[in-house]
Formats: sequence, C-alpha cells, structure tokens
Amino acid sequence: MTLQELSAYVAAEFEKTYGRPPRWIAAAPGRVNLIGEHTDYNDGFVLPMAIEFYSVMAADRPVDGKNVITLRSTLEKEVATIDLSAPVQPAPPKWGNYPRGVVAGFLARGQNPGGLDVLLHSTVPLGSGLSSSAALEVCTATLIETVTGKTIDPVEKALLCQQAEHHFANVPCGIMDQFISALGREGHLLLLDCRTRATQLVPMSDPSVALLILNTNVKHELGSGEYARRRAECEQAAKIIGVASLRDATPDQLERSREKMSEVVYRRARHVIGEIERTVHAAEGIRASNWPTVGVLMYASHAALRDDYEVSCAELDVIVELAQSIGLNGGVYGCRMTGGGFGGCCVALVQADAVPAIARKIGADYKARTGIDATIFASRPAAGATIIQG
Ligand code: ADP
Ligand code: MG
Repeated sequence: MTLQELSAYVAAEFEKTYGRPPRWIAAAPGRVNLIGEHTDYNDGFVLPMAIEFYSVMAADRPVDGKNVITLRSTLEKEVATIDLSAPVQPAPPKWGNYPRGVVAGFLARGQNPGGLDVLLHSTVPLGSGLSSSAALEVCTATLIETVTGKTIDPVEKALLCQQAEHHFANVPCGIMDQFISALGREGHLLLLDCRTRATQLVPMSDPSVALLILNTNVKHELGSGEYARRRAECEQAAKIIGVASLRDATPDQLERSREKMSEVVYRRARHVIGEIERTVHAAEGIRASNWPTVGVLMYASHAALRDDYEVSCAELDVIVELAQSIGLNGGVYGCRMTGGGFGGCCVALVQADAVPAIARKIGADYKARTGIDATIFASRPAAGATIIQG
C-alpha cells in the first residue's frame, strides 16, 4: 500500500468512526537500523532508514467544540482522551501516553492544538523493534504542526518526541528512532552522530538493491537487565582506557588497556569501537554503491553482536546463517540482527530482483529449523514525517 492509499484508508476509517471526513491527515514512518548497534549510548554513529510502514492520524475539530483531544486507534479498544483545560500528565490507557507526552511538549512551547477528534492507524508492527512508538510520537507532533499551521525545527521536534517517550511512557530511549522518523528522506539513509546530533543524509538510490526486514517473531525476556549491564560494562571500559566514552577510544588504545580489564569488558568494548568504525565505513560504501563492502560490514556487525556483545539469540543467528548460505550468487550482500537484540528483526541488503526468491527460501528454512513463521518484507528508504492533508 502506498502512503496515499494508506491515507485514503485512514480517512475512510475516520469518517466511519466520527461520521464526517477528516480535515487534517499526518503520517510518520517506522525505521530499521542498517548498522550501528549499541553505539548510541557510547556517543557513536547509527545509520537508520525510514521504512514504508507508517503511523497515520486523521483529525477534525470536535463537533461539541470541547477543549478535549479524543484519540481512537484501530489497534486498541480503549479510547484515550486528553483534557486540555487541565495539566496534561501520564494517564491510562497506556498507549495514549505516547501522544499525550507529545501534546504536553507542544503545550510547554506555547503551541496549543485545541480540541480534536483523532483516528490513528499504523502499519508499523507494534513491539517488533521497528519503532512504532517513535512513529506514533512523530505522527502526533506532525499532526499538531498541521493543525496549528506552525512547523518546528525537525531536530527540536525529534527531541520533544524523545522526551515524551522518556517521561510519559517511561522508556529511556536514545535519539535515533525519533530523528529518523522526523528527518528521514525518501531514497536516503541518515547517518546520525549520537554525540553531536549532527545528521547527514546518505543517498541510496540504486534501484537494483533493496532492504529486507526479517522478523524472527520471538522476543526473549532478557532485554532490560542485560541492556543495563552492557551500558555499565561500556562505561567501565571507557574509564579504564581513560576516555569520556568509547567513541573516543581507538582499537590500539583498547589493546593497550586489555590487561587492565576483564575479558568480558574487553569484548564489549571491542564490539562498540569496531561498530562505530563499521558504521562510518558503511555510509561511505552506500554513497559509492559498493554493496559487497556494505554487506561484509553487516556480517561483521552481526558476528560482533553475537560473540563479543552477546545480545543475539538462536533465531537471529539462524536467519543470518540462512542469508549467508544463499550468498552473493543468490543475491544477498549482507545480513545482521537489528535493534537491541534477544529477538526482533534482522535486516538484509539484497538484490532487488531476487527479493521474492530470497524471502521464500529464508522463510521456509527458518520455519523448518525453528518451527516459527518469520514475517518478511522489503522496503526502500522511505520519507520521514509528512503532512498528507493540511
Ligand atoms: P516498538 O517501538 O519497537 O514498536 P514499543 O514497545 O517501543 O515497541 O512501542 C509499542 C507501543 O506503542 C505499543 O504497545 C502501543 O502502546 C504504542 N503504539 C504504537 N503504535 C500504536 C497504534 N497504532 N495504536 C495504539 N498504540 C500504539
Ligand atoms: Mg519503541
């Protein structure tokens, strides 16, 4: 479904729900990170792209003229309401806190959207690591920009959405998801420096390549505890090396400090320092349409996440193995886990004309090896947040 078709669907759903057509429509995409995993909290680089899956909101003023935002999601039974005549604070239902936090952020800037009836629909799978949460936040922000007729700086917008996720959803996320959803551009990836927040669009317009997103459809509940431990290990490594963060450390420096740290801390740092380098090189490879080089970097990233950082899992490893066994001759350049790990998705760089055959083969072999159905889809680098009807 194109974004235009999706918007028409959401407009029709709005009309079914509220009995009149919407006045405004806004959309924001989910994302996949091509490379640069567990680098964000080490002040490093990430290289995400927006995917052709979106959160879309259609809206109109309420007929009763009340100063209340009513949000209905096609995916949730419970309706979320935000009374603008009282302080906006976290409140049930849980899903409503993402838009609620964004509304609060705009109110704090003196940008009041006023009462609204809103219908939300999302094609970003929820909770699969493709950032349906950032899509929802950035979509809300874009709707408010549309309604108020006043756009804000996209970096400020992304940071406002990140704050909403921190303070209203209680998720201490980094900046990547909101940045790519707000700043993505069709046919481009985004090289994001998590230290300075500087961004560079990296063109990827070669029609002969595509990205495959392969969802293992598993999520192991190791996540948050292990995440906190990795962060502590990285801080420890930086301290031993004598740098502010691992962003500042070179492979040589790490080797010189190897004796002073535990074997585990050494391996964690080796992943991060290597991954930051790989991410910068991958951006250069994409600019040069040097797909085999990008593919090699993706496999190296996966190996480091599996062996040094230890955040992969059997299902992710199976998908990467299957991709690797199809190989260049079968149209696969590279593949790696993407996101925090312990389940979720892999991303593969593939020849566009081989997409159906690769998806079929990996899907069948993954099922045979794990008993699980993977969800597999292709996406080109998509546009960031968009006003569909203003
Ligand atoms: P991810 O961002 O990887 O998809 P998260 O757990 O961060 O996973 O965010 C998922 C949550 O975002 C959902 O549980 C829900 O609360 C909220 N959400 C996202 N999209 C929608 C939607 N279309 N309707 C209702 N809630 C949504
Ligand atoms: Mg999320």
